[in-house]
Amino acid sequence: MQIYTSGRRTKMKRILAGVLAGTMLLGLLSGCQGQGQPEESQEPETSTTVTGSAQGYGAITADVTVDGSGKIIELVLHGDNETPSIGGEALESLREAILTAGTVEGVDSVSGATLTSEGVFNAVRNALNGETAPGEITYTAGTYEGVGAGRNGDIHVSVTVDETRILSIDVGENQETAGISDIPKERIPDAILANQSLAVDAISGATLTSRGLVAAITDALSKSGVDLAALQAAPVTPPEPMDTTDRSTDVVVLGAGMAGLVAAITAREKGADVILVEKMSFTGGNLLIAGGGLGTVGAETVEENDDLQRTLDYFKLVNETSERQPDYDFLEKFLPETGRAIDYLTNTFGLTHTSTDRGDYIRTNFDGNGAVFTKSLTDLCDSLGVVTLLNTKAEHILTEDGKAIGVQVSNRSGSYTISAQKVIVATGGASRDWDRMVAANPELNTIDFYEEAAVSSTGDGFAMLEEVGAQMDVGPFIKSAYPDISPAFGYTYANSPNQQDTLVINAQGQRVANEAPYNQMFFNKQLLRQASEAYYAIFDQSKMADYFLADAERLAEREDNSIVVKTDSLEELASKIDIPADALQASFDRYQSFCEAGADEDFGKDTSHLLPYEEGTLYAVRVYPASWGTIGGCVSDDTFHVLNTDGAPIDNLFAVGECSTARFFGDYYFGGFSLGYYTAAGMVAAETAVAELTRN
Ligand SMILES: Cc1cc2nc3c(=O)[nH]c(=O)nc-3n(C[C@H](O)[C@H](O)[C@H](O)COP(=O)(O)OP(=O)(O)OC[C@H]3O[C@@H](n4cnc5c(N)ncnc54)[C@H](O)[C@@H]3O)c2cc1C
Repeated sequence: MQIYTSGRRTKMKRILAGVLAGTMLLGLLSGCQGQGQPEESQEPETSTTVTGSAQGYGAITADVTVDGSGKIIELVLHGDNETPSIGGEALESLREAILTAGTVEGVDSVSGATLTSEGVFNAVRNALNGETAPGEITYTAGTYEGVGAGRNGDIHVSVTVDETRILSIDVGENQETAGISDIPKERIPDAILANQSLAVDAISGATLTSRGLVAAITDALSKSGVDLAALQAAPVTPPEPMDTTDRSTDVVVLGAGMAGLVAAITAREKGADVILVEKMSFTGGNLLIAGGGLGTVGAETVEENDDLQRTLDYFKLVNETSERQPDYDFLEKFLPETGRAIDYLTNTFGLTHTSTDRGDYIRTNFDGNGAVFTKSLTDLCDSLGVVTLLNTKAEHILTEDGKAIGVQVSNRSGSYTISAQKVIVATGGASRDWDRMVAANPELNTIDFYEEAAVSSTGDGFAMLEEVGAQMDVGPFIKSAYPDISPAFGYTYANSPNQQDTLVINAQGQRVANEAPYNQMFFNKQLLRQASEAYYAIFDQSKMADYFLADAERLAEREDNSIVVKTDSLEELASKIDIPADALQASFDRYQSFCEAGADEDFGKDTSHLLPYEEGTLYAVRVYPASWGTIGGCVSDDTFHVLNTDGAPIDNLFAVGECSTARFFGDYYFGGFSLGYYTAAGMVAAETAVAELTRN
């Protein structure tokens, strides 16, 4: 892997790495002036090139050209062992960032490629300063505590060292999201211990937790007297090369989220040979962060069960104002399959659950969360003999005569082909495909919203399906979630106390909607639709729960006013959050008059939530519309064969889960109606695929 400079060429002098210290370099630069070709001697020589190297995944070499002031003006990076799709791309962005800054100092690592980033920084420093590889690393033996900022707050660790080695790392108190954070909590300490180095790569998909852990461990080790720079530059064993031999199977499933895992298990249980392809280094996708609540119809293992008609009525109620409607004929046939899916999960894994009648539908909540399913399903895949290929990305669906015949995949060592009689696409939604999202949701251009979906939701399936002529639905649309009371605050609109009793205003100081609809996803949808740059919930101190108030107090001390603003007057509040004071006062007065009268003339908010504000301190808390994924994807028939643009099935090709929800939802998503559906879809598609296999 070699990243070339953009071609700006001045006279260069190549000097071996390690020969020059920084000050010597400047001296040498001035010494070079006037030498060289006649035309060049007309102007003073202003640049020179030095070479350095350091360890990334493999050796990284940097040819660094600096001008007379020491600013980096050209850079050639060589890193033949960097992963093409991760480290290779990182080399390019790092080069650009370093050239923009003119230095490596203060340049951020590339997310997911920490090792490559550190390698590049160290290679450049090595070139410029002659800094050499770390010497012997020693510690003062003992156990040290450290803290680092994770995704949801502080992560505490305890690190034990003897004089020469890190002996153990215990991860203590933290608020990281259960499930997804288990992966870095296990792998980061293991990697640091195995390599005796802090230069380990973050786990892609859990980068913030990974970084928080490394920061906490670094903090702990900083108290041990170790040379941290040396520890940060200590080499890490590069991962083994991966197999790139072509393979063949009966059924290949792309994506190991809920839909893909269930499809793989079902196909295997029905007797097929199955390969499950997953681009991340772990299975689960969004299931790892999902709540684990499922809407279901007709399950025998659920005590309180919805009947079909009640669920259909609920869909219609929810979609009363939807521009696009679900396919009710399809839902009528398909919804009972969700009951079968729940029974399967319950009976197979012995999972326990409780059901809650929410007025319009019953939601079954499995104990634990989506991570529980992930572990159970992944273990079952393994024990059944499903061949799961992690770190393997499906690139293209292969077709012949209009029929799917397999998939081209890539891993860090190259690409290869998996031939298969049936291809099931289960690669999830498109939340993280920004171009696709903005095209379908133009309000995203102005709005500041909180995307909760996993970073793996990059719409790969959408692109692959389009490429083979699948009929794509409109969208992908945002799957409306519960609004978030600033992610940095750590509360959602659902779990922050008394939020429904607040007045919520937009960046123009206007009230936006009924703050207390019976389902917060409706409120979220309004926030998305109105696309204001900012929303604030105004809390009355006298009505705030003690723990919430304490957190608000803490965040109000931040100077940037970006999360919580504390104030004793509306005028001051308007000025602090930069909204028109007159409009805020008018909205507040009108809302207050509704509270006093017990009737909301504008949005019909329930009187139980119309509580007048007391005189005194107010807290304006930033509210973000949030997303739990996408609605849309390809159109499929009742057994999840993908349809082409003429409406005919593309032979041997199926799509399930979030890459194919065109017929499930209208404009509105309602929580708990994904996992049950996608489980059922995975089962139905796999059963159909295997039934077709046996006929071949
Ligand atoms: C915070 C949160 C909470 C939620 N809570 C609930 C809930 O309680 N109940 C509910 O019903 N729903 C919930 N959802 C929604 C639900 O979790 C998702 O809709 C569902 O998990 C999607 O499943 P999936 O298998 O279709 O896709 P995903 O879970 O996205 O899985 C797709 C998999 O494919 C992989 N992949 C992608 N591209 C490729 C490629 N090119 N090659 C190989 N692999 C690839 C991904 O890495 C991923 O592992 C929640 C969502 C979020 C974000």
